[in-house]
Amino acid sequence: MTKKTSSAAHNIDTVVAHAGRSPREFHGFVNPPVVHASTVLFPDVETMASGGQKYVYGRRGNPTTEALEDAITQMEGAAGTKLANSGLNAISLACLSCLNAGDHMLVPDTAYAPTRKFSDNVLPKFNIEVSYYDPGLGKEIRSLFKDNTRAVFTEAPGSLTFEMQDVPAIAEAAHDIGATVLMDNTWASPLYCQPISLGVDLSIQAGTKYIVGHSDVMLGTIAASEKAWPALNDFHGFMGVHVAPDDVYLGLRGLRTLSVRLERHMKNTLEVISWLQTRPEVGAIHYPALESDPGHAIWKRDFSGASGLFAFDFKAGTTDAQRAVFLDALSLFGLGFSWGGFESLAIPVKLAGIRTATKPDPENCSIRMHIGLEDPEDLIKDLSQAFDRAFG
Ligand SMILES: *Cc1c(COP(=O)(O)O)cnc(C)c1O
Repeated sequence: MTKKTSSAAHNIDTVVAHAGRSPREFHGFVNPPVVHASTVLFPDVETMASGGQKYVYGRRGNPTTEALEDAITQMEGAAGTKLANSGLNAISLACLSCLNAGDHMLVPDTAYAPTRKFSDNVLPKFNIEVSYYDPGLGKEIRSLFKDNTRAVFTEAPGSLTFEMQDVPAIAEAAHDIGATVLMDNTWASPLYCQPISLGVDLSIQAGTKYIVGHSDVMLGTIAASEKAWPALNDFHGFMGVHVAPDDVYLGLRGLRTLSVRLERHMKNTLEVISWLQTRPEVGAIHYPALESDPGHAIWKRDFSGASGLFAFDFKAGTTDAQRAVFLDALSLFGLGFSWGGFESLAIPVKLAGIRTATKPDPENCSIRMHIGLEDPEDLIKDLSQAFDRAFG
């Protein structure tokens, strides 16, 4: 599969290796230094007054933060990027940068649960209204627009259930009414999807996941289109967001190997899924890279690869207690939130009470898995003994 990039000069793997680095500026060292800084000194009053100096104060950026921002900007084909303290912080900043009191935002029913919590608990404080929509809507989303709709949030594939969204169709409809389009692009990472080329204005990453890639740092990124950039840049400054340089450095370090890691995550995931498909205990598998997946055509059109996160349903009649036995029996899969690191994880999916615009099957008994960089043969052996334990 060709790896798409909106950066004209190089293919995206080359961008990942070179973006945000200027060795000659730092005595030839390959990587930028980790700059710990608050005060930045000016040579004279004139320079201080003129605003002509590149760095003015630690909070507003230094060569380390700028290196990661530049790399993401190039990968995403964006006008600019701002860093955030976590993926959720990137979501809240992006939303607030484009919404005003009295506005309305549409959010997909399958959004990451903390995105809903932010939307339901924080936005109403500012008199911003939110409603949820079926992620299967494309241009028909128009029918949900109100006079005050100013933003449409998207996330593909959806959290826990992995529905794809027709982002270009949604973006076109939203732009017709001048609304800003946001996308949580964490699943694909900027390597496998460049939302701005699909019409998105604010492209959000939980850098915590694949960019960092080693389960040791919380980080967020927001890449903006030409139109959305000035408001994002200003708002980020007004809010005083600053990411510590050591964390940014680990993000940059993770980024350099994103391509080889994701390729392996996808390969291992497909291998584990092919085996799961042969198991009598397993029902539907939710992963858009599968030809049988309802979102496959959109995935193929808009993405250039798939990551290591998917969900599978147990066959009808499986109890939560059986699922717990299965999960507790796993030894190579950790039981924990987040994902995107080098290691495999598995958690129970709970949909009851978290969706309002769609109706998930109340009997659904599923597991969300992250397939790590272990040997898939060992992962399969581990899964096999867990099925025996739960169903034997
Ligand atoms: C984890 C995650 C986030 C939030 O990232 P944090 O760094 O944990 O705040 C946002 N969106 C998606 C899709 C995620 O999986």
